[in-house]
Amino acid sequence: MTKVVKIGSLKIGGKNPIRIKGMLKTPTSNRKSLIKEAKRLEKEGAEVIRLAVKDQKDAKLAGILKEQLSIPLVADVHFHYQLALLAIKEGFDGIRLNPANIYNKKQVRQIARLAKAKGVSIRVGVNSGGFKRKFSSSGELAEQMVKRCESYLKILEAESFFDTMVSLKGSDVLSTITANRIFSSRHNYPLHLGITASGPFLEGVVKSSLGLGSLLGEGIGNVIRVSLTSPSLREIEVAKYILAALDLRRFGPEIISCPTCSRCEVKLINIVDEFKKELTRSKITKSLRIAIMGCVVNGPGEAYQADIGVAFGKRKGVIFKKDKILLQSNENRIISDLMKEVKRYGLKQN
Ligand code: SF4
Repeated sequence: MTKVVKIGSLKIGGKNPIRIKGMLKTPTSNRKSLIKEAKRLEKEGAEVIRLAVKDQKDAKLAGILKEQLSIPLVADVHFHYQLALLAIKEGFDGIRLNPANIYNKKQVRQIARLAKAKGVSIRVGVNSGGFKRKFSSSGELAEQMVKRCESYLKILEAESFFDTMVSLKGSDVLSTITANRIFSSRHNYPLHLGITASGPFLEGVVKSSLGLGSLLGEGIGNVIRVSLTSPSLREIEVAKYILAALDLRRFGPEIISCPTCSRCEVKLINIVDEFKKELTRSKITKSLRIAIMGCVVNGPGEAYQADIGVAFGKRKGVIFKKDKILLQSNENRIISDLMKEVKRYGLKQN
C-alpha cells in the first residue's frame, strides 16, 4: 500500500478514496472567469485544483483563489525554481515540478527545504514530452520516465523530503501503464495518474479510460487527472465516470441502458438522453442504478439487477423494481413516470 501524502488537508494514498484532480484552463489575466471556473470544478467534484503558474502575478493568485475554494490548490511550475519558491510562500498547498525543466540539484533542494518548512507537498511529474528523442518502444520510454523520476526523488530524499507524489504520463496508453506498473512495484509514493496530451474529447476519453482504468483495476493509482482537449468540466465528469465504472466511487445515480437494435420499438436514444437531462436537473445524489432497456430480451434481467428499471415493448414500457412490476406507461409518459418512481425510491433510501 502507498504511503499517505497530504495536499493541504486532503489525504492522498493509503486507504483513502481515489481523488479527482482538475486543472484550470482560463487565462489567469481573466480573474473573474478563472474564479468562476475553479468554483464550477469544485462543485462538479474536483477535490484538488491545479493552476499553471507562469509568473509572479500567477503565484500571487493563491490567496484570491483559496478564499473562494474549500479544496486545495496546486501550482504547476516549470523552468523557474524561484517561481516554485514564490508559489510556496504565497500559500499554494502543493507544487508540481517537472524534472525535465527544473533539475539543478541545489535549486531542487532549496525548494524541498522550503516546502518542508511550509508543509507543502511536491508532485514529481514526468511526462513523455519531456524527452527530446524517439524511443524504440513504449517499454523503453516507460523505463526512462521511471529512471528520471527516481533520480529526482533521490534529490528530495537527500533533504529528508518524503511528502511526494509521482506522476508518469505518456501521451500513449502503453507507456503510461508500463511506467506506473514499474514504479509502483518499487516505491510506495502515491501515484497521480493521467494520460498527457490524450487528444480530442472522444479519443481522450478512450485513452484515459483504458490507461487509468487498467491501472486502477490493478490497484495502482491514488489520484486521477483526465486531460482532454475539451472544457475542464468535462474532464471532471469523465474522471467520475471512470471511478464509478470501476465501482471505486459512486457519484449519484447511474443509468444502464442498452445499445438498441432492430428489436427495439421505441426511440430509446432520445428517451435515454431526455431521462439523463431530467435526472441531472433532479439533483438526486443517491447512488441508484437505473436500467433503461429497449426490449424484453435483457430488459427484465437488467431491471432486476438494477435498483429500478424499465423494459420497453411496442411504444410502451414496464417499470420494474427488482422483480415487481410497478406500472406500465406509454412511450410519451415514460420519462416522467420513471422519474417519479426514481424520486420515490431515492427518497425512501434516505
Ligand atoms: S435489450 Fe433488446 S433492444 Fe436492447 S439491444 Fe438488447 S435485444 Fe436489442
